[in-house]
Amino acid sequence: MSMPTVAIVGRPNVGKSTIFNRIAGDRISIVEDTPGVTRDRIYAHGEWLSNTFSMIDTGGIDVGDEPFLKQITEQAEVAIDEADVIVFVVSAREGVTDSDEKVAQILYRANKPVILAVNKADNPEQRQDIYDFYSLGFGDPYPISGAHGLGLGDLLDAVVKAFPDETGDVEDTSTRFSLIGRPNVGKSSLVNALLGEDRVIVSDIAGTTRDAIDTKFVTDNGDEFTMVDTAGIRKRGKVYENTERYSVMRAMKAIDNSDVVLFVLNAEEGIREQDKKVAGYAHEAGRGIIILVNKWDAIKKNNQSLHDFEIHVREEFQYLAYAPMLFVSAKTHQRLHELPELIKKVSVNHNKRVQSSTLNDVLMDAVAMNPTPTDNGKRLRIFYATQVAVAPPTFVIFVNDPELMHFSYERYLENQIREHFDFSGTPIHLIERHRK
Ligand code: GDP
Ligand code: GDP
Repeated sequence: MSMPTVAIVGRPNVGKSTIFNRIAGDRISIVEDTPGVTRDRIYAHGEWLSNTFSMIDTGGIDVGDEPFLKQITEQAEVAIDEADVIVFVVSAREGVTDSDEKVAQILYRANKPVILAVNKADNPEQRQDIYDFYSLGFGDPYPISGAHGLGLGDLLDAVVKAFPDETGDVEDTSTRFSLIGRPNVGKSSLVNALLGEDRVIVSDIAGTTRDAIDTKFVTDNGDEFTMVDTAGIRKRGKVYENTERYSVMRAMKAIDNSDVVLFVLNAEEGIREQDKKVAGYAHEAGRGIIILVNKWDAIKKNNQSLHDFEIHVREEFQYLAYAPMLFVSAKTHQRLHELPELIKKVSVNHNKRVQSSTLNDVLMDAVAMNPTPTDNGKRLRIFYATQVAVAPPTFVIFVNDPELMHFSYERYLENQIREHFDFSGTPIHLIERHRK
């Protein structure tokens, strides 16, 4: 099921990023601990009244040396393209400015719900004094203070109420996957190759407009797949679409809406810094992952090449050790026929549930082979383990003292679990709990 997206838009300095950070709260930090991921705070999750949504700070989409008006125009267009609901931020301090009116004019064409937030309304007088903002034409203005966290509840109530209604959607049992990777690795070419003539493309599912960006197809043996964000991958031309932050944001959004992520590398150019950022997001999100090394046709090869390239990728992406790799070519279609089955398998593993009794046998054998670590004479004791979630598979291990679990021993247990159950393509999470 897709996650609704909220875009925050407005001229510079009205407080967009302050509001964004306030709503995202602690949820941002997780992503930043991943190796290779810098502080790209333009995409995060928010939560309100049991609704989870994704949120874009369009102020962070910087289109280079463009003049001021061009910048805010581009940012408003990102909001229109990406969002289900737009939060238009203005400032109670400055009142309605020419730039606000410029943004408003672009948003009139949006055909999407726009909620007007009057920020910097820090005190009661300022919260009263918002009537001028009716002139912008977006109905009731919501006075807020991003800096002090005031009024956000009422604002978020309005945002959540404006989310598209998905109750009419048909239950979708297809495997949802997306292609992610930096520009030019061959995502669009792979989409076209995968949707080649031997596939029946099922027309868009009735329901929300968002489905139009996904393409559903059926393979010869009847497996159903939904390729997420096909339109976004194929689309070209707007200035902001070539910026790195926009493409990272796009990738994060596609990951959110997929079961399995195809992380695409370009064999011709090798691994770049931006590849690591993209991979980091995919890993953190806990989806199934397949590494596709594309443009394999363009490489001068001997019988060592594939092996050498694989070693190189494994070294650079050690945290993706669980992800299978496939060397493909969108141009010659080399090995592409293997992909649907591999995606299916990874999806099955991602949703796999194992029996507690077998799991505990595996762990007890593991402990017998390699004793648990000790600290200051105190030994880690493992009592019992159980799987508490799928997608990704998550295991709780009850122990005498969680502090005694070393990273390396946890890694060992994970490897033992992986040796006994096929979890290829999916991360698995181990959580230690103190037994009462
Ligand atoms: P952006 O350019 O729209 O993302 O704006 P920022 O979030 O960077 O904020 C611009 C400036 O306004 C910063 O100095 C913030 O500290 C300040 N600011 C943001 N929200 C508020 C608020 O609610 N009240 C006041 N007084 N200042 C705020
Ligand atoms: P995207 O930006 O990731 O969507 O990449 P594109 O699909 O637009 O491809 C970028 C360029 O790489 C285009 O010129 C493609 O023709 C070329 N390309 C894509 N896949 C392959 C491939 O498998 N082999 C070769 N030789 N070129 C490819």
